[in-house]
Order: sequence, then structure tokens, then C-alpha cells
Amino acid sequence: MIKQIDCPVCGHNVEVFDICDHCGWQNSGLFEDEKSPQGPNKMTLKEAKEAYENGEKVL
Ligand SMILES: [Zn+2]
Repeated sequence: MIKQIDCPVCGHNVEVFDICDHCGWQNSGLFEDEKSPQGPNKMTLKEAKEAYENGEKVL
């Protein structure tokens, strides 16, 4: 069974560990770390949220 969560950046529904179709963030399920980039993300979660709020691209 595929588990779905709310994207921690934009809040859209996304599969665990999948890349969000809406903002491009790859979530780390329950193991998000606000301070260091994980997986293919070049931004930290904190930076990604700020970029999303400012209408910038999440990397
Ligand atoms: Zn998203």
C-alpha cells in the first residue's frame, strides 16, 4: 500500500519519498530535517518553504 502525505512544502498530496508534482520537493516521509538538504533536494526544507512562499522554484 502506498502511503500518501501532505507535501511539507506546499501541502499538496504526495506519496511518501516521492517528488511533489506541484513544487518539486522530494519529501523524506517522517524524517524531514529542516536544517540540512536530503536526497535530491538542493535546498533545506526551511529554504524550500521560503522559496515556495515567494513564488520561487524549489530546488
Ligand atoms: Zn509540494
